[in-house]
Amino acid sequence: MGTDWLPLQSFSPEGRLIVLENQRVWEAPIAKFGILCRVARPLRATVRVLPQEQGVLFRGRLSGAVFLPCVLCAEDSLVLLDERFDCFEPLPADPQSRRGRTRCLEEADEAVIRLSPHGGYEVNPAALAWEEFSLALPPHPLCREDCKGLCPVCGANRNRETCVCARGDGATFAPLLRLTAAKKI
Ligand SMILES: [Zn+2]
Ligand SMILES: [Zn+2]
Repeated sequence: MGTDWLPLQSFSPEGRLIVLENQRVWEAPIAKFGILCRVARPLRATVRVLPQEQGVLFRGRLSGAVFLPCVLCAEDSLVLLDERFDCFEPLPADPQSRRGRTRCLEEADEAVIRLSPHGGYEVNPAALAWEEFSLALPPHPLCREDCKGLCPVCGANRNRETCVCARGDGATFAPLLRLTAAKKI
């Protein structure tokens, strides 16, 4: 597989469906940005690329599953993905044409659409599939809804074991709590 860039003029006005199944589309940027994320079920994106007068409409679906570390206990959190997206990207302004510059109100996403060195424009559906993926990830993944997290004192995973440490920073109550905990045993 050479370049991910495709000339926009190769797409008819009815658009073309691009199917992305090569895990490299997601695994390469995951590695590049050092994201703690593992593919659990192969990721797949179908993207219909629809050329418009002022830009390109990308319409599609992203599915699969990944593991992210739980924000509370760092254990695997399984994240199922099944997202539909509808994303308009404006054409980048042509530096040769003043008209193009004034008409371009929105900033073009140069990772997805660019001026081709051979003239015209090029699109990168794989870069869009990556962006949609990163937008779909939850900001605070949890291994389970009621994750109890790690004990800040001894580091025990409270989902698996109960430790006798005091909760939080209530240092003054710590001996008392330890005493009551010890009594229970
Ligand atoms: Zn957790
Ligand atoms: Zn503890």
